[in-house]
Amino acid sequence: MRGDWDWNNWKAQFRNRIQTVEALKEIIQLSPEEERAIKKSEGLYRWAVTPYYASLMDPTDSNCPIRLQALPTVDELMPNMYSDVDPVGDMKYRKTNRIVHKYADRIVMLVTEQCSVYCRHCTRKYHTTDVNGTYFEKQEAESFEEDFKYIAEHPEIRDVLLTGGDPLTYSDDRLEHIISHLRSIPHVEIIRIGTRYPVLLPQRITKEFCEMLEKYHPVWLNTHFNHPKEITEESAKACNLLLKHGVPVQNQSVLLKGINDDLETMKALLHGLLKIRVRPYYLYHCDNVTGVSHFMTPLEKGIEILRGLVGHTTGFAVPTYVVTTINGKIPISLDTIVEYSEKGLTLLSYEGKETFIPYLRPQGAVSSKT
Ligand code: SF4
Repeated sequence: MRGDWDWNNWKAQFRNRIQTVEALKEIIQLSPEEERAIKKSEGLYRWAVTPYYASLMDPTDSNCPIRLQALPTVDELMPNMYSDVDPVGDMKYRKTNRIVHKYADRIVMLVTEQCSVYCRHCTRKYHTTDVNGTYFEKQEAESFEEDFKYIAEHPEIRDVLLTGGDPLTYSDDRLEHIISHLRSIPHVEIIRIGTRYPVLLPQRITKEFCEMLEKYHPVWLNTHFNHPKEITEESAKACNLLLKHGVPVQNQSVLLKGINDDLETMKALLHGLLKIRVRPYYLYHCDNVTGVSHFMTPLEKGIEILRGLVGHTTGFAVPTYVVTTINGKIPISLDTIVEYSEKGLTLLSYEGKETFIPYLRPQGAVSSKT
């Protein structure tokens, strides 16, 4: 697979992405079902895989979690009557060509439709992977002036998340143009970047890129590892470089049927993330997005995994399990209150033991009125 180009050069990796059955067959034993799905999805859904991400694929197992995330399957072509192209309401809350303003003090800026790999489970599948889909009212190439103006005119916006598609598909210069503008708006306190490049093409995280980000702190980066196989020497190096330049790296996984919907895999993923100093942040319940429904698990599955984590491993290894809805993200937590009474609360420990906590002031506490 490694041709006469520089494997460690992200632009060369991007240029040499695998986008044909023939190229894929040089790397893995494509099953007849996979080949049929790729052909059937032509003209409907995009697919592309970086040589790096393809190198993580099991060459013989079509249920490999990397293959399932990157290659079309016939399941995504099956209609689901309850699915929606935009279940989280990006279009409902869109204010400009790029800005989604759903929460009072923060916005999402959809920078691009392009990604290095088109993840089959993408929440914005219509935006990124559907051949005919886009969220942009105008063109992606439209000037950013209208978006910057909107932010400047809304002093309540203190947090801007750049996402897409994957913003790191843009060159450092284009990104710096956006980030420097945001940083010049006095009420923008933090800039966040949502990107899967550390997982799909970690060579994108260069020293030059990190040095550029460092000029505009505080900049945070949220990435998206879903399976322990994705934690490699290269992805660890990318995260380490970001951390060295003061960029906190957090992870948002999606609970995906057949990929990470079992406790053992989830634990291995979370522990692997801690080892590379990436903080598990969210575990998203898989949205019922058109073309993604086959990855959904019952909510009970997420709760079962949460029960296996809380108290059984490092507290900060446990992500917040959330459902994204048209009304915002809703966290699902374990119900630990067994009973409210006049005298106190009965709580449930992680081992199922009930503990009574009285509503008493600590010894020596005095009323604020005295
Ligand atoms: S990289 Fe992110 S935005 Fe792009 S397809 Fe994957 S999940 Fe969607």
